[in-house]
Amino acid sequence: MTAVARKQLPLRPAGPDTVDALLAWYDEERRDLPWRVAPGKRADPYRVWLSEIMLQQTTVKAVIPFYLRFLARWPTVKALAAAPLDDVLAAWAGLGYYSRARNLHKCAVAVAEGLGGKFPGTVAELQQLPGIGPYTAAAIAAIAFGEAATPVDGNIERVVARLFAVRQPLPAAKSELKRLAATLTPARRAGDFAQAMMDLGAGICTPRRPSCLVCPVQQDCAAAAHGIAASLPLRLERTERPQRVGFAFVALREDGHVLLRKRPEAGLLGGMLEVPGTAWGDLLPPAKEALRSAPLRADWWAVPGTVVHVFTHFRLELIVYPPARHLHPAPTAAHPPPPFALAHARQTPIPYL
Ligand code: SF4
Repeated sequence: MTAVARKQLPLRPAGPDTVDALLAWYDEERRDLPWRVAPGKRADPYRVWLSEIMLQQTTVKAVIPFYLRFLARWPTVKALAAAPLDDVLAAWAGLGYYSRARNLHKCAVAVAEGLGGKFPGTVAELQQLPGIGPYTAAAIAAIAFGEAATPVDGNIERVVARLFAVRQPLPAAKSELKRLAATLTPARRAGDFAQAMMDLGAGICTPRRPSCLVCPVQQDCAAAAHGIAASLPLRLERTERPQRVGFAFVALREDGHVLLRKRPEAGLLGGMLEVPGTAWGDLLPPAKEALRSAPLRADWWAVPGTVVHVFTHFRLELIVYPPARHLHPAPTAAHPPPPFALAHARQTPIPYL
């Protein structure tokens, strides 16, 4: 069959046959992931939940070693709930977005103490728990409990936009894509279907170069038929992220300890450790004024250039000031100047550095 003939195929709109084709493909070609079970089986809710929270905004490859370490150390939700929050945060270091780790622990406590260690089985109940949004609730309900729920993230939005050739741009198209995805979700094997859609989006229906020629649902795909797969989904241009700026004082001791302080519990990166610095604002304060925020007296000097960290809703640019020399011997671990603390720079989760 030539590529031209392929584009002229009489289409059947995506529907039950598409689901059957996708499930047959999943049975043979699914990714082997440590939190998965064999097709047709229901997975352990704790494992599904743990993997789904870790997978938010992180790749599968990055998550696997963290997932295995967490599971070995805390094999049940009760074990995780009993762990000190600081241990969980330290084990999470490297996965980013620390609010997820705090919510992970909060949720474990809620399930262990409020629900006898059993996750609830419906989307509505799961969404009541800390850190579980609509996508994660649908994924857990479908994969662990077999509810005909439809998790729709960016990957699945892309697959659905292409299957149905939705030309409305994102984000306005979100609710329509969710509705269309729900029309496909089968009453039987909803969890396998959700995971099949995830695998299709991750490995075949990829953002730039979808591999339509080897796609199990190609004959049902409107975008492939019209030759517009790679251009979908359409998106409204993003407005630029606002920028915030500030100074950071990085006081390292010769033994690798760094002077840190705790951020306020409420707000961005609540309760996390950070190096001391000025507030983050729209404009840089004059250096003389900024130096008043330095944690101790020293000959602070500006490292050329800036350090940039991009949060979801703003871009942070920091000028880094170290002291002219390593701090030695003061401050000591026993007597850092309050409200600061000393911790080893390489062994401590510091979220944005
Ligand atoms: S045929 Fe192409 S565009 Fe359509 S779902 Fe498959 S990979 Fe995606």
